[in-house]
Amino acid sequence: MTAILIVAPKLIDVENKRILDNMEVLVENGKIKEVGKVNSTDSKGAQRIEFEEGYLMPGLIDAHLHLMGGRSESYIEESLIVPDGLKIIRATNDAKALLDAGFTTVRDCGSSAAVHVREAIREGEAVGPRILTSVFILTQTFGHGDFHSIPENWVDARTSGRGSALICDGVEECRKAARHAFREGADFIKICTTGGVMSQKDKPENTQFTVEEIRAIVEEANHVNSYTASHAQGTEGINNALKAGVKTIEHAIYPNEETVKLGKENDAVFILTLTIAKTIAEEGEKAGYPKWAVEKAAQAMNDYIKNIRFLVSSGVKIGLGTDFFGSKLTKMGTNARELVALVKDAKLDPWLVLEAATINNAKACGLEGKTGVVKKGYFADLILVKDNPVEKIETLLNTSNIALVMKEGKVYKKL
Ligand SMILES: [Zn+2]
Repeated sequence: MTAILIVAPKLIDVENKRILDNMEVLVENGKIKEVGKVNSTDSKGAQRIEFEEGYLMPGLIDAHLHLMGGRSESYIEESLIVPDGLKIIRATNDAKALLDAGFTTVRDCGSSAAVHVREAIREGEAVGPRILTSVFILTQTFGHGDFHSIPENWVDARTSGRGSALICDGVEECRKAARHAFREGADFIKICTTGGVMSQKDKPENTQFTVEEIRAIVEEANHVNSYTASHAQGTEGINNALKAGVKTIEHAIYPNEETVKLGKENDAVFILTLTIAKTIAEEGEKAGYPKWAVEKAAQAMNDYIKNIRFLVSSGVKIGLGTDFFGSKLTKMGTNARELVALVKDAKLDPWLVLEAATINNAKACGLEGKTGVVKKGYFADLILVKDNPVEKIETLLNTSNIALVMKEGKVYKKL
């Protein structure tokens, strides 16, 4: 691979919250070799890509989505009726749209398609971001990952051959389900320790799995140098997950002071997903979401922004995700909506939101020190944005503003 030198008038240094003028980045063998002022690096023989305008920054990361090739809002039917082959083709197109939108890494929190798309991208058969996937969602009987209205053996992926649910109760079944997930190619384990908006008969505040069950799963993940992520919305379920050693808390709608203490002790990342809650609350009814889901989303929205601000002010690590699955309301490639919502609706500092989408999300993906920063030794995952996203975050929504997408040293898009 020949070396590439990228020259840009501005470089967004997210780590130090500053913008540097007239910079160049030397890339070799997929990694960043040197970063410095224009004409300061040893770039003899390198291919030169120079931009007259724009802001170079780390590639974006969505730390929570479902690359399942959804096309309607009826996610239960999509999950169980659409054949896997079709899902994989749709999800492959979605992966391409994500890369085009500047997302160079995504974390799939449960889908049967993502693991195959991941392999196709690795082989060079398909184009897309770096994918980390849990493949499955571990859930207790009557948990958030269980579809409460249909027969149980239609739900569990081991008996239905469809979808991504693994139903497990008790320490031994939990261990076995975690081992099964790794057997099928999971990069990490996803569990549900509370109910949720999109599960019919439970509530976001309901606690699911015992601490012992969670601990067994965390232990299995640790055995293979991996980690556990938990869908956790209610207070007790969030805190149970943290007590058992879970590393990423997904959604985190109702945290309390103990959450903050446990989160810091655990060095956990809290993955905020404001857009999905807002979208279902505001547009769900018209789009055909079940009434109970729309009502629960609206209820959660009452507290979510306040609690996001509480988490941020408490100093825990914040990441972000969309929970998008590819439907009209959750279209892949529009994932920067989460960054915009956190700045515009939750009124967070844009620097903090960029840090969440890069450095902290890299940590949530288990890629700390490998991506998310424009620094020597990191993967050359870089994008160039035409306008300054610190001043105008919505610039990220328009993919024609993303003038360069480089993933691991390879240019996938250049306008
Ligand atoms: Zn999710």
